[in-house]
Amino acid sequence: MYPWNQVLWQRFCQQQQQQRLPHALLLSGISGLGKEGFAESVVANVLCISLKNDNSPCGQCHSCQLLSAGNHPDHIKIMPEEAGKQIKIDQIRSLKDKQQLTTSVANWKTIIISPADAMNVSASNSLLKLLEEPQQNTLLILITDKPEKLPITIRSRCQSYPFSSPPTEQALAWLATQDIHNTKNELEKILQLASGAPIKVLEMLDNNISDRYQQIERDFDAILSGQANPIALATSWKDFELSEILHYLHYLIKNRLIELLETKQKSTKNRHYLKISDCIMDTIKLTSSLNNVNKTLLTEDFIVSVMQITYKFENKVR
Ligand SMILES: [Zn+2]
Repeated sequence: MYPWNQVLWQRFCQQQQQQRLPHALLLSGISGLGKEGFAESVVANVLCISLKNDNSPCGQCHSCQLLSAGNHPDHIKIMPEEAGKQIKIDQIRSLKDKQQLTTSVANWKTIIISPADAMNVSASNSLLKLLEEPQQNTLLILITDKPEKLPITIRSRCQSYPFSSPPTEQALAWLATQDIHNTKNELEKILQLASGAPIKVLEMLDNNISDRYQQIERDFDAILSGQANPIALATSWKDFELSEILHYLHYLIKNRLIELLETKQKSTKNRHYLKISDCIMDTIKLTSSLNNVNKTLLTEDFIVSVMQITYKFENKVR
């Protein structure tokens, strides 16, 4: 269990020990916090027929063995048939048929639906009927990064388990125990990009995303020194989510401002950076408010604006 999920885990264990488990749990929070692993631990605990004294699954009983072999008759996991696609009504209906059967090995039946926000409208309606007539000893676990996309009627029938990012120090301490070789400074930057989700940091490192972001930082320096070609840069940034780049640049400029303030030198750079920070925020607002915006054009405009701000400041100084 990840250290940042301990409080939620204690809450679950307490409910289990007091035999007060709800019919449905909603695990929500940004990706990279370990919601899937948490759900699997919940399932392992609920299905084990001889829990150890510390409330962990024994790993030995018939139920534990079936679960680890991946074919437990009392457990179902529902996912989109293809990644990124919807969960269809037939998948939820098959659940209903299965729910009416009695348990065969464990004392409970468990169902994971992930990502729950992938259910289409008819699948959601079908699930709602199940939630309205809960079966005894059946635990339904919904997992989602985007709870706001679930109908309120479903959310209100689940007990909420909200996952949140750990404090930066805790995240960095955990990352230090992983087999990675980045400096603390680099990890802090990547953690920022991952919205504070430590497991997401590992994924980003695996995919060399951090290298690409280091390139963006070099690009940003080129923009600030007036050396950039806006059209070429906008093209090379095309593969990224523009809002992600902008949040990253905002983080960079904020850090540079803090560094400037710490040196306490009187400098026009302060106002220069503040102007750029405003420009980034304005562009972030634009990307979120406009639906059919041409991202490449917007990126070019943004780069040109930053270069113009820089040009004005440098010419005032001289
Ligand atoms: Zn067991």
